[in-house]
Amino acid sequence: MTKDFVCIVCPASCRLRVTETGGKITVTGNDCPRGEKHGLHEFQNPTRMLTTTVAIAGGTLPRLPVISREEIPKERLEECLQVLYKKKVEAPLRCGDVIVKDICQTGVDVLASRSMERKLG
Ligand code: SF4
Repeated sequence: MTKDFVCIVCPASCRLRVTETGGKITVTGNDCPRGEKHGLHEFQNPTRMLTTTVAIAGGTLPRLPVISREEIPKERLEECLQVLYKKKVEAPLRCGDVIVKDICQTGVDVLASRSMERKLG
């Protein structure tokens, strides 16, 4: 199996080709060892930080930005987003407050990425 990626570790954007043959995985196209590490990670277990917003009641804005504490396996992102689309929290909240603990049993918490005061009046 062969997969192509663009290395996002630095602005050089090397085009990586990762090939698995007989259980051996090789990375080509990388100009430095960091690209090999990135290519292997993308091939074997791609992960991403999750960022989105959730509905917030009583806040100064209608939605609260949130971010995962760590990267989440890429194939679980959609499932996690579905949970967050349905989530509603209440102001006030502080940046770093846990919005969803262990989202979808990934072991990763989702946090408020900004504070939100309660709307006056
Ligand atoms: S392989 Fe190395 S030089 Fe190329 S984009 Fe990745 S980090 Fe940068």
